[in-house]
Amino acid sequence: MYSKKVVDRFSNPKNSGEMKDADAIGEEGNPRCGDVMKIYLKVENEKIIDVKFQTYGCIAAIACSDALCELAKGKTITEAKKIKSQDILNELGKLPPIKIHCSILGMEALQNVIKNYETKKAKNN
Ligand SMILES: [Zn+2]
Repeated sequence: MYSKKVVDRFSNPKNSGEMKDADAIGEEGNPRCGDVMKIYLKVENEKIIDVKFQTYGCIAAIACSDALCELAKGKTITEAKKIKSQDILNELGKLPPIKIHCSILGMEALQNVIKNYETKKAKNN
């Protein structure tokens, strides 16, 4: 049912865990399979230097979170805003059609954490 890349990321995610000194945290939920994604960002000079996730959810949601972190890491905020759910899918090979919403959730969680980062930054300036 799942591609090898999905299973690999699910069983051995590289970017999972809490980030204590995160510059922004974003959370997004998905009622369809009960996934909850929490994304942590560390930003330096408008560049995302680290991304971590804590996801409670299905195999696809965890694989998407891990792929998302990899995609966002090293990008500027402006570049990261352009990451689409399709980019996450490309990173994973493919997902079963009923699990496509997990990649959309990943994209939304990223947009959410970026929005929180920008709100926080605007307040500090
Ligand atoms: Zn899911």
